[in-house]
Amino acid sequence: MPTTYEMRPAIWADIRPEQWQDWHWQQQNRLRSVEALEAVVALSDAERAAFAASSEAFRVAITPHYATLMEASCDPAGPTRCPIRLQALPHPGELVEYAFELDDPLAEEAHMPVPGITHRYPDRVLFYASHNCPMYCRHCTRKRKVSDPTTAASRTQIAQGLDYIRRTKTVRDVLVSGGDPLTLSDARLGEILHGLREIEHVEVIRLGTRNPVTLPQRITPEFCEMLRGVRPLYLHTHFNHPRELGEDAARALRMLLDAGCVLGNQMVLLKGVNDDPETVLELNRKLLIHGCRPYYMLQCDMARGITHFRTPLSTGLRIVEYLRGRIGGMGIPDFVVDLPGGGGKIELSPDYIIDRKPCEIEGVIGEQITFQNWAGETFEFVDLADSSS
Ligand SMILES: *Cc1c(COP(=O)(O)O)cnc(C)c1O
Ligand code: SF4
Repeated sequence: MPTTYEMRPAIWADIRPEQWQDWHWQQQNRLRSVEALEAVVALSDAERAAFAASSEAFRVAITPHYATLMEASCDPAGPTRCPIRLQALPHPGELVEYAFELDDPLAEEAHMPVPGITHRYPDRVLFYASHNCPMYCRHCTRKRKVSDPTTAASRTQIAQGLDYIRRTKTVRDVLVSGGDPLTLSDARLGEILHGLREIEHVEVIRLGTRNPVTLPQRITPEFCEMLRGVRPLYLHTHFNHPRELGEDAARALRMLLDAGCVLGNQMVLLKGVNDDPETVLELNRKLLIHGCRPYYMLQCDMARGITHFRTPLSTGLRIVEYLRGRIGGMGIPDFVVDLPGGGGKIELSPDYIIDRKPCEIEGVIGEQITFQNWAGETFEFVDLADSSS
């Protein structure tokens, strides 16, 4: 597989490999304006209009690395079908408002005991370490905060968060998230992770980051050295499409594995990006090749301005059903809906029971259940009644 450096568009022809590999260079050269974008890809009229109208509400920033993964051409008359573009470029759908859309779909603000911590389940918390990201995903569920410079997590806020976890003994599992925590320097992030490691009741530390996808250059040997000091660390990343897992991302995952991270992927189901079973199968195969387990396939939630990405629940169920039988269980993520209003996550799975009737066989009372397997064949199973009742 070629690296994005080898595939880079003409405007970066003079860039040296060590510049491209430098994540600061990638950050500084992010595409943020229509003019910058048009030097790299052709925009349709609809995309240009959407950019003008929606970039105010949710900033645009695309790393040269991620921009290189986009299809350069675009049919000016037709809708864009590139799964990378759809995640990176404003879409006219962002401007359409629906009454059911919510600013804070998961009621994360309502469950904040201190600023920057969402404590919903007894044993685990979400800890927001930064509100910035190298790229702003158009489907982001935290649009209300992410990319808004006025909501940046301050040093005091992080100290207060650590303090809350320290004094809340029921917290066993901390998910450091954002925004993207890797926007912080190694030193800052190291302080947080080491701080957590020193808290006796914190058994599990997780780091949620999309950097392996949007800015794999951020995964440096120095960064990995820091992570090695807090291992085992569970790292949740966010690949949505097989094309995102190229040579550079694969290298980043390899380095993270070497540093003692346990890798998991949280995919978001997005219309036009990955809402077909073949795409998800290919993505999950690739993830397993690179040591990253598909953990969740998240239903796109009810956040404002992302309704054009939403698929019916039946799409997710159909995908899970398709995966079963074509890839081992490790390649099948839980299909999860994060309930609006802070209900938490619930997983949905296909119903493999097609019939059930009471039965009595040689004095044993139970139920005769008819299952249908992944291949559509049916099988009978006798389920015993609970003898204790
Ligand atoms: C998703 C989430 C977690 C972590 O949940 P897991 O299902 O354990 O991955 C924790 N807190 C909040 C508020 C969440 O939304
Ligand atoms: S990386 Fe995550 S937090 Fe940042 S814009 Fe994308 S989805 Fe939102």
